[in-house]
Amino acid sequence: MTAARGPRFAASIAAAVLLLSPLPSSAWGREGHEIIGIIAAHYLTPAARGRIDALLGADRSGLTRNTGIASESTWADRYRDSDRRGGAIRYRRTREWHYVDIELAAPDLGMACFGRPRLAPGVPASKGPADDCIVDKVDEFSAELADPATTRAERLRALQFLLHFVGDLHQPLHCADDHDRGGNDRRVLSPARRAASLHQYWDTVLVEALGRSSGGVANRLIASISARQRRQWSSGAPADWAMQSFRIARSVAYGDLPAADGSGRYRLDRRYDAAAINAVRVQLQRAGVRLALLLNRALTPQAPR
Ligand SMILES: [Zn+2]
Repeated sequence: MTAARGPRFAASIAAAVLLLSPLPSSAWGREGHEIIGIIAAHYLTPAARGRIDALLGADRSGLTRNTGIASESTWADRYRDSDRRGGAIRYRRTREWHYVDIELAAPDLGMACFGRPRLAPGVPASKGPADDCIVDKVDEFSAELADPATTRAERLRALQFLLHFVGDLHQPLHCADDHDRGGNDRRVLSPARRAASLHQYWDTVLVEALGRSSGGVANRLIASISARQRRQWSSGAPADWAMQSFRIARSVAYGDLPAADGSGRYRLDRRYDAAAINAVRVQLQRAGVRLALLLNRALTPQAPR
């Protein structure tokens, strides 16, 4: 996610905003992405895992600790922010790819995805138009990863973006907007009196409530995923998963919000937290299962389609 999300301004204003705005909260935060990476790794076929390890071993970007899938799942946020205070080419080219602003009042995935632009022939997905959404990028990078004609450099990029974007796609506020930049413009106060934006609250505060060790939380979540849930979650396409995230945002993230107080802040109660934590738990599980599904399909020749 990004604090500079939303309607675009004239170039000069955008440049000023870019310099003044605080660094974005990283979607799901580091912990959320790591949890999803660990869950996905659990469900990989040996063939897919071998290919992923070989590809990630070639990452010399220095943007992550690069100790495997969990740490590389944060690469796309770091790549986006790596020149945010400089030339901002990476930032401007990739920032829209982390979410899809489906409007609460008039949900329209096609419109939120800039009309679903197609890549021009021969253009790698990592060089695709800046105005594109997370749904298209997950589809494009999955296809590149499965295509033997993809160059090795682009294959690594496709994997790095995919490891991150499947996670972002499951953060409900990455798939919904209420003219508040996906909750970035709303201030909330948790039952423990912790202040954050609504977006940050879902990115990090609720994830931390599950526990402070990515490995420990991931293992508990894996242990509670049934075979039936895995089958259910393995159906559909990224566009369906985005709409599922949207519905959770509509019913829980926004739907359960109390009225704002006199200073415009939303004082969340324990009932809000309980419903939100349940939603976060299942979204992290779904993201891990679906990330493994896409990686297995792309990197295991005989994997079911
Ligand atoms: Zn992100």
